[in-house]
Order: sequence, then C-alpha cells, then structure tokens
Amino acid sequence: MAPQTEEKKDVKNDFVKREIIWPKVLFWIYIHCCAAYGALLIFTDAKLTTTLFCLLLIMVTSLGNTLGTHRLWAHKTYTAAWPLRLLLITFQTLGLTGSVYDWALDHRIHHKYHGTDKDKYNFKRGFFFAHMGNRYHTSNPESEHLHNQIDMRDIEEDQIVMWQNRLYWVFAIILGVILPVNTPMEYWNESGVNAVYVLGFFRIAVSIHMVWLINSANILWGLDPLDKRSADTNLVFLVNKSLWPQYHYLLPFDYRSGEYGTYNEGCSTAFLRIFAALGWATDLRTIDTNTIRDALQSVLSSRSHWLKYWRNGRTSIILKI
Ligand SMILES: [Zn+2]
Repeated sequence: MAPQTEEKKDVKNDFVKREIIWPKVLFWIYIHCCAAYGALLIFTDAKLTTTLFCLLLIMVTSLGNTLGTHRLWAHKTYTAAWPLRLLLITFQTLGLTGSVYDWALDHRIHHKYHGTDKDKYNFKRGFFFAHMGNRYHTSNPESEHLHNQIDMRDIEEDQIVMWQNRLYWVFAIILGVILPVNTPMEYWNESGVNAVYVLGFFRIAVSIHMVWLINSANILWGLDPLDKRSADTNLVFLVNKSLWPQYHYLLPFDYRSGEYGTYNEGCSTAFLRIFAALGWATDLRTIDTNTIRDALQSVLSSRSHWLKYWRNGRTSIILKI
C-alpha cells in the first residue's frame, strides 16, 4: 500500500488552493434541510398524486440532463430535430441546474482536463469534492482562461440553447418553480406547505444531485486507482463497479454510454431509441465492438496495478465487459 500512499501525496501537492465560501455552505445546508423536510412530508402528509407528480418531474428532468445536456449538447452523440431539442431543454430547465450552455461548457472542460486540478470536479480530491464540495469552493484562478479554450461554436449555432441561456432565470423561475409548485395546489388541492417542500425543495435537490452525479459518477461506478471506496465496503450492495465510466472519458461521443455506469442499457438510452424511431433523433454515433474492446483494454492496461489489488480483495468486482 505504500506506493499508493505516496502517489496520493503527490497528487495533493498539485492541487490549486481553493477557499471555502461559507455563505454557499450555509445555502446548501439550508436547501438540504428543507429537502429532508420535503422527504418527511412525502411519507407523512403529502397526497399520493403529489408524490407521483414529483417523481415524474424528477424523471423527465433527468432525461433533459442525460439525453439533452450531456449526450446531445456536450458530446454531440446524435442529432436532434428542433421539437426534441425544445422538449429536452424544457425538461432540463425544470431542474434549476443552470443553463445548458454553461453546463456543456463546464462538462467539456471537465473532459478535457479530467483527473487534473484544472477540472473543477477533479475526482482526485475525492467523491465528496467532485460531487458537491466544488460548489462551495472558490473557482480555479485559471477558469476564465480555460473557458476561452473550449470550442462552443456548435452550441452557439443552436438558437434554442442560446435563448435559454439569455433568459435562463425567467424560464427557470416559471418552469422550475412556479408551475411545479402551483400545479398540485391548483389541480388536486394539495396544501401550500406540501407543494413548496415536496415539489419545490425535495424535487429540486434530487434533480440537482442527479445532474451532479454525471460529473462525479466515475468515482462511484468506475474502477479507478484512486477510488477510495473498495469493494469491501457496503457500497458494493448499491452499485456495480465497471469500466464504462472510464470508457466514456476515452470515447465520449458514443450515445450508448450511460451516465451512471452502464452501457447500452438504461432508461435514457431506451428513450433515445424511441425518439430515433420517431425520426426526432438521427445520426446516433457509436463504434464497433472491436474498437470498444481496444478502448477497454487501454483502460485496463493503464489501471493494471489497481485491478491486481481488486482481485486480491475479499469481494470480487463485476466487470461488465
Ligand atoms: Zn461526458
């Protein structure tokens, strides 16, 4: 284990100093406390229709993020007709996770500098930082310079994305707050408190964590030398570790790469095939089996010492190759 400890020390020495912004810490604590109260109301007071409506909105918001922001706009894994782009951007706006333009820009930087401190979600700082800690730390001083290095011309040609970016907070407040919170009160006489805490705080908190996971999932689902959660922990009962997250960082244009550690399966991929059958999604990009095999072998060879460690562990890892 000694060489690995030294490796971790070296990595930490490369970290850019980023200060904690305490008002943001308090803000996120407040949001999560309110979301927890919303979760309590789901089990104690809210109507079943309110809970089902909440789950429906979380699901469509997730589709907006996975199929829209991630696979379509950030990685161009397929081409979408304007009705599908409008639908996906509407779903994405429900979640209050920032504009598609900003998210795609951040995600392209995340891919370009993956595993370095230029990536603000740097997984080498650990899962909590990659997932949430980066939200209340100061940005990398180089971030403006990094933004200017990313080619965004393809997204800038998409007027639907650019209109959302210009008027983001207008759309976000109407679609992400007023309509979801008002609907249960208007149509099935839900109380104001339940509507605000379940459809407001709880739904938005879950949607935000779903989209945060896209940048941090590789540490949960992916086999990696610096992963802090070994298969010997209880996490093995919740997720199957695989190489697919690493595969996505090698070949991000493959539409079949799931955001949460899967490949060629999952709800988003199924919906994308439905949209393709309807003719709304075309030019779905993927690659042949041999290229996939070569890509996974390249991941395996770069991670060989870690895989040996896994094999020697008490619990075996499921490699979905
Ligand atoms: Zn990606």
